[in-house]
Amino acid sequence: MPIIRTMSDAITTEHAALAPQHLPAAVFAELEIVRDPDNLFHQTIEQVLVASQIVGMRHHQQIILAQPANEIMVHFPVLMDDGHHDLFKGYRVQHNNALGPYKGGIRFHPDVNLDDIKALAVLMTMKCSLVRVPFGGSKGGVKCDPRELSVTELMRVTRRFCSAISNQIGPDYDIPAPDVGTNARIMAWFADTYAQMSPEHERHDTIRIVTGKPVDWGGSLGREKATGQGLVYILQEMLPELGIDISAMTFSLLGFGNVGGWTGRLLNGLGATLVAVADHTGAIHNDGGIDPELLAEHVTETGGVSGFREAEMIGQDEFYGLEVDVLVPAALEQMITPEKAELINAKVFAEGANAPSTPEGDAVLMRRGIEILPAVLCNAGGVTVSYFEWVQNKSSVSWSAEEVDERLKMHMVLAARRTNLARVKYDVDMRTASYCAALEQIRKVYDLRGVFP
Ligand code: NAD
Repeated sequence: MPIIRTMSDAITTEHAALAPQHLPAAVFAELEIVRDPDNLFHQTIEQVLVASQIVGMRHHQQIILAQPANEIMVHFPVLMDDGHHDLFKGYRVQHNNALGPYKGGIRFHPDVNLDDIKALAVLMTMKCSLVRVPFGGSKGGVKCDPRELSVTELMRVTRRFCSAISNQIGPDYDIPAPDVGTNARIMAWFADTYAQMSPEHERHDTIRIVTGKPVDWGGSLGREKATGQGLVYILQEMLPELGIDISAMTFSLLGFGNVGGWTGRLLNGLGATLVAVADHTGAIHNDGGIDPELLAEHVTETGGVSGFREAEMIGQDEFYGLEVDVLVPAALEQMITPEKAELINAKVFAEGANAPSTPEGDAVLMRRGIEILPAVLCNAGGVTVSYFEWVQNKSSVSWSAEEVDERLKMHMVLAARRTNLARVKYDVDMRTASYCAALEQIRKVYDLRGVFP
Protein backbone atom coordinates (compact mmCIF):
# COMPACT_ATOMS: atom_id res chain seq x y z
CA MET A 1 0.00 0.00 0.00
CA PRO A 2 2.21 2.93 -1.18
CA ILE A 3 0.46 5.60 0.78
CA ILE A 4 3.06 8.04 2.10
CA ARG A 5 3.63 10.89 -0.26
CA THR A 6 5.75 13.97 0.15
CA MET A 7 4.65 16.79 2.35
CA SER A 8 4.80 19.16 -0.58
CA ASP A 9 1.90 17.21 -2.09
CA ALA A 10 0.00 17.60 1.11
CA ILE A 11 0.41 21.34 1.57
CA THR A 12 -1.21 22.03 -1.77
CA THR A 13 -4.46 20.69 -0.25
CA GLU A 14 -7.25 23.25 -0.46
CA HIS A 15 -9.24 23.62 2.72
CA ALA A 16 -10.70 26.70 1.07
CA ALA A 17 -13.49 24.52 -0.28
CA LEU A 18 -15.04 24.62 3.18
CA ALA A 19 -17.89 27.09 3.51
CA PRO A 20 -16.78 30.21 5.45
CA GLN A 21 -19.27 29.60 8.27
CA HIS A 22 -17.55 26.27 8.89
CA LEU A 23 -14.03 27.60 9.21
CA PRO A 24 -12.51 27.38 12.71
CA ALA A 25 -12.76 31.17 12.98
CA ALA A 26 -16.56 30.87 13.00
CA VAL A 27 -16.45 28.42 15.90
CA PHE A 28 -13.96 30.65 17.75
CA ALA A 29 -16.29 33.62 17.26
CA GLU A 30 -19.35 31.66 18.36
CA LEU A 31 -17.61 30.50 21.55
CA GLU A 32 -16.07 33.93 22.11
CA ILE A 33 -12.54 32.57 22.04
CA VAL A 34 -10.19 35.42 21.17
CA ARG A 35 -7.55 33.69 19.11
CA ASP A 36 -3.98 34.20 20.25
CA PRO A 37 -1.53 32.78 17.67
CA ASP A 38 0.98 31.88 20.40
CA ASN A 39 -1.56 30.01 22.54
CA LEU A 40 -1.03 26.23 22.30
CA PHE A 41 -4.68 25.48 23.09
CA HIS A 42 -5.91 27.81 20.33
CA GLN A 43 -3.41 26.33 17.87
CA THR A 44 -4.44 22.78 18.74
CA ILE A 45 -8.17 23.42 18.64
CA GLU A 46 -7.82 25.19 15.31
CA GLN A 47 -6.08 22.17 13.78
CA VAL A 48 -8.67 19.80 15.26
CA LEU A 49 -11.54 21.96 13.99
CA VAL A 50 -10.11 21.97 10.47
CA ALA A 51 -9.96 18.17 10.60
CA SER A 52 -13.46 17.94 12.11
CA GLN A 53 -14.79 19.92 9.18
CA ILE A 54 -12.92 17.77 6.68
CA VAL A 55 -14.51 14.60 8.09
CA GLY A 56 -17.90 16.28 8.11
CA MET A 57 -18.61 16.58 11.82
CA ARG A 58 -21.82 18.37 12.66
CA HIS A 59 -21.89 21.82 14.18
CA HIS A 60 -22.77 20.59 17.69
CA GLN A 61 -19.97 18.03 17.58
CA GLN A 62 -17.48 20.74 16.64
CA ILE A 63 -18.46 23.08 19.44
CA ILE A 64 -18.37 20.22 21.96
CA LEU A 65 -14.77 19.47 20.96
CA ALA A 66 -13.74 23.14 20.87
CA GLN A 67 -13.79 23.44 24.67
CA PRO A 68 -12.96 20.98 27.47
CA ALA A 69 -15.92 19.55 29.38
CA ASN A 70 -14.36 20.46 32.74
CA GLU A 71 -11.47 22.71 33.79
CA ILE A 72 -10.48 22.20 37.41
CA MET A 73 -8.00 24.52 39.11
CA VAL A 74 -6.88 23.96 42.70
CA HIS A 75 -4.58 25.63 45.21
CA PHE A 76 -3.20 23.58 48.07
CA PRO A 77 -0.69 24.10 50.87
CA VAL A 78 2.30 21.79 51.33
CA LEU A 79 4.57 21.51 54.34
CA MET A 80 8.16 22.05 53.19
CA ASP A 81 11.16 20.40 54.86
CA ASP A 82 12.21 23.62 56.60
CA GLY A 83 8.86 23.82 58.38
CA HIS A 84 7.13 26.55 56.35
CA HIS A 85 4.17 26.02 54.00
CA ASP A 86 4.16 26.78 50.25
CA LEU A 87 0.96 27.17 48.24
CA PHE A 88 0.89 25.19 44.98
CA LYS A 89 -1.37 25.54 41.96
CA GLY A 90 -2.65 22.43 40.18
CA TYR A 91 -4.90 21.69 37.21
CA ARG A 92 -7.00 18.85 35.89
CA VAL A 93 -8.66 19.40 32.53
CA GLN A 94 -11.19 16.85 31.22
CA HIS A 95 -11.69 17.45 27.55
CA ASN A 96 -14.00 14.76 26.23
CA ASN A 97 -15.32 11.38 27.42
CA ALA A 98 -17.50 10.31 24.51
CA LEU A 99 -15.40 7.15 24.00
CA GLY A 100 -14.75 6.24 27.65
CA PRO A 101 -13.33 7.50 30.97
CA TYR A 102 -11.08 10.54 30.82
CA LYS A 103 -7.40 9.58 30.63
CA GLY A 104 -4.29 11.72 30.74
CA GLY A 105 -0.94 12.36 32.38
CA ILE A 106 0.07 14.59 35.25
CA ARG A 107 2.94 16.99 34.69
CA PHE A 108 5.14 18.57 37.36
CA HIS A 109 6.91 21.53 35.76
CA PRO A 110 7.44 25.26 36.48
CA ASP A 111 5.80 26.27 33.17
CA VAL A 112 2.54 24.35 33.74
CA ASN A 113 -0.41 26.61 32.87
CA LEU A 114 -4.11 26.15 32.15
CA ASP A 115 -4.08 26.65 28.38
CA ASP A 116 -1.19 24.24 27.78
CA ILE A 117 -2.95 21.62 29.92
CA LYS A 118 -6.15 22.20 27.91
CA ALA A 119 -4.21 21.65 24.67
CA LEU A 120 -2.64 18.47 26.00
CA ALA A 121 -6.07 17.19 27.09
CA VAL A 122 -7.38 17.73 23.53
CA LEU A 123 -4.42 15.78 22.16
CA MET A 124 -5.25 12.92 24.56
CA THR A 125 -8.79 12.78 23.16
CA MET A 126 -7.32 12.53 19.66
CA LYS A 127 -4.69 9.97 20.66
CA CYS A 128 -7.05 7.57 22.44
CA SER A 129 -9.45 7.67 19.53
CA LEU A 130 -6.72 7.19 16.93
CA VAL A 131 -5.38 4.03 18.62
CA ARG A 132 -8.96 2.96 19.43
CA VAL A 133 -8.60 2.55 23.18
CA PRO A 134 -11.89 3.22 25.00
CA PHE A 135 -10.81 6.37 26.81
CA GLY A 136 -11.43 10.07 26.48
CA GLY A 137 -8.88 12.83 26.94
CA SER A 138 -7.72 14.72 30.02
CA LYS A 139 -4.50 16.16 31.41
CA GLY A 140 -3.28 17.59 34.68
CA GLY A 141 -0.33 19.28 36.23
CA VAL A 142 1.18 21.07 39.17
CA LYS A 143 3.20 24.23 38.72
CA CYS A 144 6.41 23.27 40.51
CA ASP A 145 10.01 22.32 39.81
CA PRO A 146 10.42 18.69 40.91
CA ARG A 147 14.21 19.05 40.63
CA GLU A 148 14.09 21.66 43.39
CA LEU A 149 11.97 19.53 45.74
CA SER A 150 13.30 16.93 48.18
CA VAL A 151 11.84 13.42 47.94
CA THR A 152 9.62 14.05 50.97
CA GLU A 153 8.40 17.38 49.57
CA LEU A 154 7.68 15.72 46.23
CA MET A 155 5.65 13.06 48.03
CA ARG A 156 3.64 15.65 49.97
CA VAL A 157 2.96 17.71 46.81
CA THR A 158 1.71 14.53 45.11
CA ARG A 159 -0.49 13.49 48.03
CA ARG A 160 -1.99 16.95 48.51
CA PHE A 161 -2.66 17.33 44.78
CA CYS A 162 -4.36 13.92 44.71
CA SER A 163 -6.55 14.86 47.67
CA ALA A 164 -7.36 18.26 46.14
CA ILE A 165 -8.75 16.70 42.95
CA SER A 166 -9.96 13.39 44.44
CA ASN A 167 -13.65 14.27 44.04
CA GLN A 168 -13.18 14.98 40.35
CA ILE A 169 -11.32 11.81 39.32
CA GLY A 170 -12.06 8.10 39.69
CA PRO A 171 -10.92 4.64 38.47
CA ASP A 172 -13.83 4.53 35.99
CA TYR A 173 -14.12 8.27 35.50
CA ASP A 174 -10.74 10.00 35.09
CA ILE A 175 -7.46 8.11 35.32
CA PRO A 176 -4.13 10.02 35.56
CA ALA A 177 -0.69 8.71 34.47
CA PRO A 178 2.92 9.96 34.42
CA ASP A 179 4.10 12.77 32.15
CA VAL A 180 7.01 15.23 32.20
CA GLY A 181 8.43 15.47 35.74
CA THR A 182 6.42 12.55 37.15
CA ASN A 183 7.18 8.81 37.25
CA ALA A 184 6.09 5.42 38.57
CA ARG A 185 7.04 6.29 42.15
CA ILE A 186 4.85 9.39 42.07
CA MET A 187 2.00 7.29 40.66
CA ALA A 188 2.40 4.88 43.61
CA TRP A 189 2.06 7.79 46.10
CA PHE A 190 -0.94 9.03 44.13
CA ALA A 191 -2.65 5.62 44.15
CA ASP A 192 -1.93 5.12 47.86
CA THR A 193 -3.38 8.52 48.74
CA TYR A 194 -6.52 7.85 46.72
CA ALA A 195 -6.87 4.40 48.36
CA GLN A 196 -6.51 5.90 51.86
CA MET A 197 -9.31 8.33 51.02
CA SER A 198 -11.62 5.55 49.79
CA PRO A 199 -13.86 3.30 51.91
CA GLU A 200 -11.88 0.37 53.33
CA HIS A 201 -13.76 -2.29 51.33
CA GLU A 202 -13.09 -0.53 47.99
CA ARG A 203 -9.38 0.12 48.44
CA HIS A 204 -8.01 -2.69 46.31
CA ASP A 205 -10.24 -1.70 43.43
CA THR A 206 -9.01 1.89 43.51
CA ILE A 207 -5.55 0.88 42.32
CA ARG A 208 -6.89 1.65 38.82
CA ILE A 209 -7.02 5.34 39.73
CA VAL A 210 -3.66 5.80 37.99
CA THR A 211 -1.61 3.93 35.42
CA GLY A 212 2.15 3.93 35.01
CA LYS A 213 2.49 2.45 38.50
CA PRO A 214 5.53 0.38 39.54
CA VAL A 215 5.34 -3.19 38.23
CA ASP A 216 5.58 -4.44 41.84
CA TRP A 217 2.35 -2.66 42.71
CA GLY A 218 -0.22 -2.89 39.93
CA GLY A 219 1.91 -1.62 37.05
CA SER A 220 2.10 -3.38 33.69
CA LEU A 221 5.20 -4.92 32.24
CA GLY A 222 6.24 -2.80 29.29
CA ARG A 223 4.59 0.43 30.51
CA GLU A 224 7.81 2.26 31.29
CA LYS A 225 9.17 1.84 27.76
CA ALA A 226 5.74 1.94 26.09
CA THR A 227 5.87 5.40 24.52
CA GLY A 228 9.33 4.78 23.05
CA GLN A 229 8.31 1.28 21.97
CA GLY A 230 5.18 2.59 20.28
CA LEU A 231 7.23 5.21 18.44
CA VAL A 232 9.61 2.51 17.23
CA TYR A 233 6.68 0.43 15.93
CA ILE A 234 5.47 3.49 14.01
CA LEU A 235 8.94 4.01 12.51
CA GLN A 236 9.12 0.34 11.53
CA GLU A 237 5.78 0.71 9.77
CA MET A 238 6.46 4.07 8.10
CA LEU A 239 10.17 4.27 7.27
CA PRO A 240 10.31 1.56 4.58
CA GLU A 241 7.82 3.64 2.53
CA LEU A 242 10.26 6.55 2.82
CA GLY A 243 13.21 4.44 1.70
CA ILE A 244 14.92 4.45 5.13
CA ASP A 245 16.36 1.23 6.54
CA ILE A 246 16.15 1.36 10.36
CA SER A 247 19.11 -0.96 10.82
CA ALA A 248 21.36 1.41 8.86
CA MET A 249 19.90 4.78 9.76
CA THR A 250 21.23 7.64 11.89
CA PHE A 251 19.07 9.54 14.38
CA SER A 252 19.21 12.28 16.98
CA LEU A 253 17.13 12.88 20.10
CA LEU A 254 15.92 16.14 21.57
CA GLY A 255 15.22 15.09 25.16
CA PHE A 256 16.56 12.02 26.92
CA GLY A 257 13.93 11.36 29.59
CA ASN A 258 11.42 8.53 29.51
CA VAL A 259 10.44 8.89 25.85
CA GLY A 260 13.84 9.91 24.42
CA GLY A 261 15.78 7.44 26.54
CA TRP A 262 13.67 4.43 25.59
CA THR A 263 13.44 5.42 21.93
CA GLY A 264 17.25 5.68 21.89
CA ARG A 265 17.77 2.27 23.48
CA LEU A 266 15.19 0.48 21.33
CA LEU A 267 16.37 1.98 18.02
CA ASN A 268 19.96 1.24 18.97
CA GLY A 269 18.92 -2.37 19.56
CA LEU A 270 17.61 -2.49 15.96
CA GLY A 271 20.99 -1.34 14.61
CA ALA A 272 20.31 2.40 14.17
CA THR A 273 23.07 4.83 15.17
CA LEU A 274 22.37 7.57 17.72
CA VAL A 275 24.65 10.45 16.70
CA ALA A 276 23.43 13.35 18.87
CA VAL A 277 21.33 14.13 21.93
CA ALA A 278 20.24 17.45 23.41
CA ASP A 279 18.50 18.09 26.72
CA HIS A 280 18.09 20.93 29.24
CA THR A 281 21.80 20.64 30.17
CA GLY A 282 23.29 20.88 26.63
CA ALA A 283 23.92 18.90 23.45
CA ILE A 284 26.34 16.06 22.69
CA HIS A 285 27.53 14.52 19.43
CA ASN A 286 29.49 11.49 18.23
CA ASP A 287 29.41 10.45 14.57
CA GLY A 288 30.65 7.00 15.58
CA GLY A 289 27.52 6.48 17.70
CA ILE A 290 26.46 7.21 21.29
CA ASP A 291 25.69 4.20 23.47
CA PRO A 292 22.21 4.97 24.91
CA GLU A 293 22.67 2.53 27.81
CA LEU A 294 25.84 4.28 28.97
CA LEU A 295 24.21 7.66 28.40
CA ALA A 296 21.19 6.62 30.49
CA GLU A 297 23.54 5.71 33.36
CA HIS A 298 25.26 9.09 33.02
CA VAL A 299 21.91 10.94 33.02
CA THR A 300 20.77 9.04 36.13
CA GLU A 301 24.00 9.97 37.92
CA THR A 302 24.35 13.59 36.81
CA GLY A 303 20.82 14.71 35.82
CA GLY A 304 21.55 15.42 32.14
CA VAL A 305 23.53 14.54 29.01
CA SER A 306 26.09 17.30 29.51
CA GLY A 307 29.60 16.02 30.30
CA PHE A 308 29.07 12.53 28.81
CA ARG A 309 32.61 11.38 28.14
CA GLU A 310 31.98 9.30 25.01
CA ALA A 311 30.81 12.33 23.00
CA GLU A 312 31.77 15.96 22.37
CA MET A 313 29.69 18.90 23.55
CA ILE A 314 28.16 20.94 20.72
CA GLY A 315 26.00 24.05 20.51
CA GLN A 316 22.21 24.03 19.99
CA ASP A 317 22.41 25.26 16.38
CA GLU A 318 24.97 22.62 15.52
CA PHE A 319 22.71 19.96 17.08
CA TYR A 320 19.75 20.91 14.89
CA GLY A 321 21.93 21.21 11.78
CA LEU A 322 23.41 17.69 12.00
CA GLU A 323 22.53 15.50 9.04
CA VAL A 324 20.46 12.53 10.25
CA ASP A 325 17.76 10.31 8.84
CA VAL A 326 15.39 10.81 11.78
CA LEU A 327 15.15 13.50 14.46
CA VAL A 328 12.94 12.57 17.42
CA PRO A 329 11.82 15.56 19.50
CA ALA A 330 11.12 14.07 22.95
CA ALA A 331 11.32 17.10 25.26
CA LEU A 332 8.74 19.86 25.65
CA GLU A 333 6.12 21.58 23.50
CA GLN A 334 6.78 24.40 21.04
CA MET A 335 10.57 24.02 21.00
CA ILE A 336 10.90 24.00 17.21
CA THR A 337 10.46 27.59 16.12
CA PRO A 338 10.81 28.62 12.45
CA GLU A 339 14.47 29.51 13.07
CA LYS A 340 15.22 26.02 14.44
CA ALA A 341 13.13 24.38 11.71
CA GLU A 342 15.30 26.11 9.11
CA LEU A 343 18.36 24.47 10.67
CA ILE A 344 17.01 20.93 10.87
CA ASN A 345 18.77 18.54 8.53
CA ALA A 346 16.69 15.38 8.97
CA LYS A 347 14.54 13.46 6.49
CA VAL A 348 11.93 12.56 9.11
CA PHE A 349 10.68 14.43 12.18
CA ALA A 350 9.08 11.76 14.39
CA GLU A 351 7.23 13.49 17.23
CA GLY A 352 7.81 11.80 20.58
CA ALA A 353 6.85 14.98 22.41
CA ASN A 354 3.41 16.54 22.15
CA ALA A 355 3.22 19.56 19.82
CA PRO A 356 7.02 19.89 19.65
CA SER A 357 6.91 22.63 17.00
CA THR A 358 5.01 25.88 16.67
CA PRO A 359 2.60 26.10 13.70
CA GLU A 360 5.13 28.38 12.00
CA GLY A 361 7.91 25.88 12.72
CA ASP A 362 5.67 23.15 11.29
CA ALA A 363 5.16 25.17 8.10
CA VAL A 364 8.91 25.52 7.64
CA LEU A 365 9.46 21.77 8.10
CA MET A 366 6.73 21.06 5.54
CA ARG A 367 8.10 23.60 3.06
CA ARG A 368 11.51 21.99 3.35
CA GLY A 369 10.03 18.57 2.57
CA ILE A 370 10.79 17.06 5.99
CA GLU A 371 8.33 14.25 6.69
CA ILE A 372 6.45 14.89 9.93
CA LEU A 373 5.13 11.85 11.77
CA PRO A 374 2.63 13.46 14.17
CA ALA A 375 2.63 13.14 17.95
CA VAL A 376 -0.86 11.72 18.38
CA LEU A 377 0.31 8.79 16.30
CA CYS A 378 3.96 8.48 17.39
CA ASN A 379 3.55 8.84 21.15
CA ALA A 380 0.25 6.97 21.61
CA GLY A 381 2.09 3.86 22.88
CA GLY A 382 2.07 5.23 26.43
CA VAL A 383 -1.68 5.56 26.71
CA THR A 384 -2.17 2.25 24.92
CA VAL A 385 -0.17 0.33 27.53
CA SER A 386 -1.83 2.43 30.24
CA TYR A 387 -5.09 1.01 28.94
CA PHE A 388 -3.58 -2.49 29.16
CA GLU A 389 -2.55 -1.78 32.77
CA TRP A 390 -6.08 -0.61 33.60
CA VAL A 391 -7.60 -3.72 32.00
CA GLN A 392 -5.19 -5.99 33.92
CA ASN A 393 -6.02 -4.21 37.21
CA LYS A 394 -9.75 -4.44 36.49
CA SER A 395 -9.59 -8.17 35.81
CA SER A 396 -6.83 -9.04 38.35
CA VAL A 397 -4.51 -10.62 35.79
CA SER A 398 -0.93 -9.97 34.64
CA TRP A 399 0.13 -10.12 31.04
CA SER A 400 3.64 -11.13 29.98
CA ALA A 401 5.98 -8.54 28.48
CA GLU A 402 5.65 -10.32 25.13
CA GLU A 403 1.85 -10.16 25.24
CA VAL A 404 1.96 -6.44 26.04
CA ASP A 405 4.37 -5.76 23.16
CA GLU A 406 2.35 -7.83 20.71
CA ARG A 407 -0.90 -6.04 21.56
CA LEU A 408 0.83 -2.65 21.53
CA LYS A 409 2.24 -3.34 18.08
CA MET A 410 -1.21 -4.21 16.77
CA HIS A 411 -2.71 -0.93 18.04
CA MET A 412 0.19 1.15 16.70
CA VAL A 413 0.32 -0.47 13.26
CA LEU A 414 -3.44 -0.14 12.79
CA ALA A 415 -3.28 3.53 13.89
CA ALA A 416 -0.49 4.15 11.36
CA ARG A 417 -2.55 2.54 8.59
CA ARG A 418 -5.65 4.51 9.60
CA THR A 419 -3.60 7.71 9.38
CA ASN A 420 -2.17 6.78 6.00
CA LEU A 421 -5.64 5.98 4.68
CA ALA A 422 -7.00 9.32 5.94
CA ARG A 423 -4.10 11.08 4.26
CA VAL A 424 -5.09 9.67 0.92
CA LYS A 425 -8.85 9.85 1.44
CA TYR A 426 -8.87 13.52 2.42
CA ASP A 427 -5.66 14.57 0.60
CA VAL A 428 -4.17 16.22 3.68
CA ASP A 429 -0.85 16.34 5.54
CA MET A 430 -0.02 13.66 8.12
CA ARG A 431 -0.97 15.72 11.18
CA THR A 432 -4.39 16.58 9.78
CA ALA A 433 -4.76 12.95 8.67
CA SER A 434 -4.09 11.69 12.21
CA TYR A 435 -6.80 14.02 13.54
CA CYS A 436 -9.20 13.00 10.76
CA ALA A 437 -8.69 9.31 11.54
CA ALA A 438 -9.31 10.02 15.24
CA LEU A 439 -12.35 12.22 14.62
CA GLU A 440 -14.04 9.75 12.29
CA GLN A 441 -14.48 7.47 15.32
CA ILE A 442 -15.68 10.24 17.65
CA ARG A 443 -18.16 11.42 15.02
CA LYS A 444 -19.55 7.89 14.65
CA VAL A 445 -20.02 7.58 18.41
CA TYR A 446 -21.71 10.98 18.70
CA ASP A 447 -23.97 10.11 15.77
CA LEU A 448 -25.01 6.95 17.63
CA ARG A 449 -25.32 8.47 21.09
CA GLY A 450 -26.80 11.84 20.23
CA VAL A 451 -26.69 14.61 22.79
CA PHE A 452 -28.62 14.37 26.07
CA PRO A 453 -31.46 15.27 26.68
P1 NAD B 1 10.79 13.45 30.96
O1 NAD B 1 10.57 14.42 32.04
O2 NAD B 1 11.14 12.05 31.32
O3 NAD B 1 11.94 13.99 29.97
C1 NAD B 1 11.89 15.27 29.43
C2 NAD B 1 13.19 15.53 28.68
O4 NAD B 1 13.11 16.83 28.11
C3 NAD B 1 14.44 15.52 29.57
O5 NAD B 1 15.49 14.86 28.91
C4 NAD B 1 14.77 17.00 29.70
O6 NAD B 1 16.14 17.25 29.89
C5 NAD B 1 14.33 17.50 28.34
N1 NAD B 1 14.15 18.95 28.34
C6 NAD B 1 13.42 19.70 29.20
N2 NAD B 1 13.56 21.00 28.90
C7 NAD B 1 14.40 21.07 27.83
C8 NAD B 1 14.95 22.12 27.07
N3 NAD B 1 14.66 23.39 27.34
N4 NAD B 1 15.80 21.81 26.06
C9 NAD B 1 16.10 20.53 25.77
N5 NAD B 1 15.60 19.48 26.46
C10 NAD B 1 14.77 19.75 27.48
O7 NAD B 1 9.48 13.51 30.04
P2 NAD B 1 8.92 12.39 29.07
O8 NAD B 1 7.93 11.57 29.83
O9 NAD B 1 10.02 11.73 28.35
O10 NAD B 1 8.04 13.29 28.07
C11 NAD B 1 8.63 13.98 26.97
C12 NAD B 1 7.53 14.41 26.02
O11 NAD B 1 6.80 13.26 25.60
C13 NAD B 1 6.48 15.36 26.60
O12 NAD B 1 5.99 16.19 25.56
C14 NAD B 1 5.38 14.42 27.04
O13 NAD B 1 4.11 15.07 27.13
C15 NAD B 1 5.41 13.44 25.89
N6 NAD B 1 4.81 12.15 26.20
C16 NAD B 1 5.26 11.37 27.23
C17 NAD B 1 4.67 10.14 27.46
C18 NAD B 1 5.16 9.21 28.53
O14 NAD B 1 4.66 8.08 28.59
N7 NAD B 1 6.11 9.59 29.35
C19 NAD B 1 3.60 9.71 26.65
C20 NAD B 1 3.18 10.52 25.61
C21 NAD B 1 3.79 11.74 25.40
